[in-house]
Amino acid sequence: MSDRKNALVTGSTSGIGLAIARALAGAGYNIVLNGFGPEDEIEAMRSGIESDHGVKAIYHGADMTKPAEIEDMMATAARDLGPVDVLVNNAGIQHVAPVEEFPLEKWDGIIAINLSSTFHTTRAAMAGMKQRGWGRVINISSAHGLVASPYKSAYVAAKHGILGFTKAVALESAQHGVTVNAICPGYVLTPLVEKQIPDTAKARGISEDSVISDVILANQPTKDFVSVEQIGALAVFLCSDAASQITGAALPVDGGWTAQ
Ligand code: NAD
Repeated sequence: MSDRKNALVTGSTSGIGLAIARALAGAGYNIVLNGFGPEDEIEAMRSGIESDHGVKAIYHGADMTKPAEIEDMMATAARDLGPVDVLVNNAGIQHVAPVEEFPLEKWDGIIAINLSSTFHTTRAAMAGMKQRGWGRVINISSAHGLVASPYKSAYVAAKHGILGFTKAVALESAQHGVTVNAICPGYVLTPLVEKQIPDTAKARGISEDSVISDVILANQPTKDFVSVEQIGALAVFLCSDAASQITGAALPVDGGWTAQ
């Protein structure tokens, strides 16, 4: 096992999680990737991280709705790579519907992936972090952890819940060299969001530029997306010694959205 520190990022086969994994690899951390996708694409991401950054990277496909699989992922990481020093809870899904029509399985899935998986991973990693006197837990919440939008009841509940969990665990670990923080992104141009632009333009009969400024970014005063690299850079900063007194924080990266 190398003497590098190890970082595990849930939901890191796409978007924000992948960018955080790459940024942490660039800062010298070995990486545990997790998430869904075609096997060959995931292997290309894993081997690309190793060759681009000279670190070790492994992949575990645990489903964040399944506590036993999460437990296996945490145990595999510890066995094959070493202790998890940096834990990034990023996996998340969305479903949009009025509360009276909200499908039960969507509510349960969002609470499980976006909220409860963070408890399961943190529960498994925390004792070791405290014992070693150093650790970083970074929870990816959302602007929707601070404010709401209609028709996103499960997502908003989970993302607000993440902030409460972040504060409680930050207090528990504050004297052990462990920080626990949440990043609250506004709209980030991930593949998920990109795919919605042409469809929305067609459905509303407006240009793709209007979809971006008048529909998607209506709440974002800068009228610009947050980039995945900006979230990755903040995650790296939170792991630095300069950030050792930042704990229990909810850090908006939202182009001014939650200032309104
Ligand atoms: P994405 O869809 O690009 O990536 C989601 C990742 O989670 C993928 O790797 C996917 O495979 C994984 N995943 C989904 N279900 C899973 C499960 N059951 N088990 C394990 N992995 C699973 O989305 P993204 O935009 O990169 O979002 C990442 C996080 O950032 C989410 O928590 C999301 O709520 C949050 N966020 C995104 C935005 C945005 O505008 N894109 C804004 C604020 C917060």
